[in-house]
Amino acid sequence: MVVGVLVELSSKNIDKIFDYNVPLELVSKIKVGIRVTVPFGRMTLEGFVLEIKDKKTTSKELKSIIDVVDKDIVLNKELLELGKVMRNNTLSTLISCYQVMLPKALKAHVGVQINKKYDYFYKVNGDISNLKLNDKQKEIIELCKDDFVLKSELVKISVSSFNTLLKKGVLIEERREHYRLNYNDSNRVIHKLTPKQKEIYDEIIGYKDLKPSLIYGVTGSGKTEIYMELIDYYLKKGKTALLLVPEISLTAQLINRFVDRFGNKIAALHSALSDGERYDEYRRIQNGEATIVIGARSAVFAPLERIGIIIVDEEHTDSYKQSESNPRYNAKEIALIRGEMHKCKVVFGSATPSLEAMARAKKGVFHLLSLMERVNGKELPEVKIIDMNKEIRRTRGHFSLELVNAIREKVALGEQVILLLNRRGYASFVTCKNCGHTFKCPNCDISLTYHKSSNTMRCHYCGYADKKPFVCPECHEKSINDLGVGTQRIEEELEKLVDAKVLRMDYDTTSRKGSHEKMITAFKNHEYDILLGTQMVSKGLDFPLVTLVGVINADTSLNIPDYNSAFNTFSLLNQVSGRAGRSEKSGVVYIQTFNKDHYAIKYASENDYFSFYEEEMRIRRLLKYPPYYYLCYIRISGKENNLVNNEANKIKRSLDRNISDIILGPSPSILYKINNIYRYSIIIKYKNIDNIRDILIKINDHYKTNNNVKIEIDFNHLHIM
Ligand code: ADP
Ligand code: ZN
Repeated sequence: MVVGVLVELSSKNIDKIFDYNVPLELVSKIKVGIRVTVPFGRMTLEGFVLEIKDKKTTSKELKSIIDVVDKDIVLNKELLELGKVMRNNTLSTLISCYQVMLPKALKAHVGVQINKKYDYFYKVNGDISNLKLNDKQKEIIELCKDDFVLKSELVKISVSSFNTLLKKGVLIEERREHYRLNYNDSNRVIHKLTPKQKEIYDEIIGYKDLKPSLIYGVTGSGKTEIYMELIDYYLKKGKTALLLVPEISLTAQLINRFVDRFGNKIAALHSALSDGERYDEYRRIQNGEATIVIGARSAVFAPLERIGIIIVDEEHTDSYKQSESNPRYNAKEIALIRGEMHKCKVVFGSATPSLEAMARAKKGVFHLLSLMERVNGKELPEVKIIDMNKEIRRTRGHFSLELVNAIREKVALGEQVILLLNRRGYASFVTCKNCGHTFKCPNCDISLTYHKSSNTMRCHYCGYADKKPFVCPECHEKSINDLGVGTQRIEEELEKLVDAKVLRMDYDTTSRKGSHEKMITAFKNHEYDILLGTQMVSKGLDFPLVTLVGVINADTSLNIPDYNSAFNTFSLLNQVSGRAGRSEKSGVVYIQTFNKDHYAIKYASENDYFSFYEEEMRIRRLLKYPPYYYLCYIRISGKENNLVNNEANKIKRSLDRNISDIILGPSPSILYKINNIYRYSIIIKYKNIDNIRDILIKINDHYKTNNNVKIEIDFNHLHIM
């Protein structure tokens, strides 16, 4: 037998299938889509069998595979096909497309081993009437004479008696796989849909065409409840369901709701899982035990069969795009592709739909469904803008008097408060007050961030860390200052201003596994009055006692040099506002800003999505940004600055000769030097990918074997950074 194998090395110049013979004793184990180990040059590698080329003969010229890794298929037909589509769309290597789909335990990778866990059960074997037994042994036998019993139950009685019985052959063993995660079976919490929810549900089910749907529903309008009802419908028809959410570790509450309704039918794939847990969840999906998958970006590749519905919640979030490494795919696009493959429903949902999605809906490419009211009939919270230009003399640190008073009032009433410190684009640089020296990462040419708990300055790109010095290395004065504000600083300010229990939630305090969930529970139980945190307090949280939301600095995210910054700010303010007044008590939101007239802030405070949409679309059209044009981002990088710069210019000239689209650059990237690699970028604004693909393939191929200059291409790029 001869098979075609795709090996684990992801290098553009070995991006092809290599043929191997299969030794006779392995032939019966070979299937398309399983892993094998093969000799490759002087190495031993793992790879995927992609083709069976010849069933009967072998070839003298070929080497033989060494072993077969799996019993069952790792990549099924659909995923194999999907990988090829992805390679075409992203110009990445085929192997990188397959690897990104799989949990670590199943990637092709020599030397990585993640095992299944087992429980051991025992039962009495055969006739024992002639045996002489002591009391403990009798007790054990009594317990497992009819049924298999877990080992731990038996050794509880007596370890030595258990061992003796085992040695005598009285007990037979059965090994059962033990999944590391366990969802309790549910108490089946089901809400009857409101008439408005039901209407949307009926429409989606009723559509005969395969057009995707976009649910535009304000925060708290009951989108999630509709998702659950839809999923239930398809499950009852014997189908499966896939729900994508932005970053699931921040969505513990959502998972709990699904567990409450669907119990152990769900599998959750998220970044907080250990490799073992992820492996187990993955196999529960593969073997059909889990029929609902909830997960972040890469869960879009979950090996579900017979998919009935794919839902992408908070579709506007940029975390669905993998931007920093190949393959640079967007889970939303993959969702649409899989939707076509399965001929199933695809539903996008958001309280602030992306401009792309809304523009498509307005063109009739998506069905648009709107939910403009909250489930409980409550008004959306009233939003007050605080002009910090005026307030600045009256402020207490970062707090306006008005906000402080509002916090005091709510806390006194026994209600709860959420405070957002907008950290997007926020700098907490370390500088010298005397000479202005700022501390930069020696590898990355970007400012170091101060971490108070360890008194260190850290690079968020490469992890470089250094103690914060006492004296400035430039002017030798003792004037080192940590500028910007972190949540820690705000917390200290707050505790001086308000007599309340403050819970701080940020990257530092939630890094330990499970800590995020614990905090949410503690806040929900009213162990704290105020929840202070970064972006992570804005998403999906549902606390009935929260009646005040304060945004400490709305502006920082406006200052990012990214065409999406207005949208991101609008969306963030909208999300965080939605945390207020979710029960009987109505809510109020305070937004502190230095840009009160900026349209993103103004329309966010008025809860006016469509006015924001019109204004932002006008600007996008003027500046030729998405959704009017797509952006293709080309990164040219390498160790030698001049060389990289030269090659970037060559690429630009070659593009000029071959396409008539708008080409920007080359220019040094905003993150110009990372880990001692210099980076330049070229941006193409294009309308039709078919016009630019060929030349980009050529350019990509041209640098395949160049070790000094690396080319990365990102179609439909989301940021200009
Ligand atoms: P969204 O996803 O749009 O933010 P949710 O589905 O989370 O909205 O609903 C907001 C709140 O209203 C949740 O606490 C949810 O349990 C509750 N809710 C939603 N729909 C119903 C319903 N039909 N009956 C009762 N409660 C509901
Ligand atoms: Zn660095």
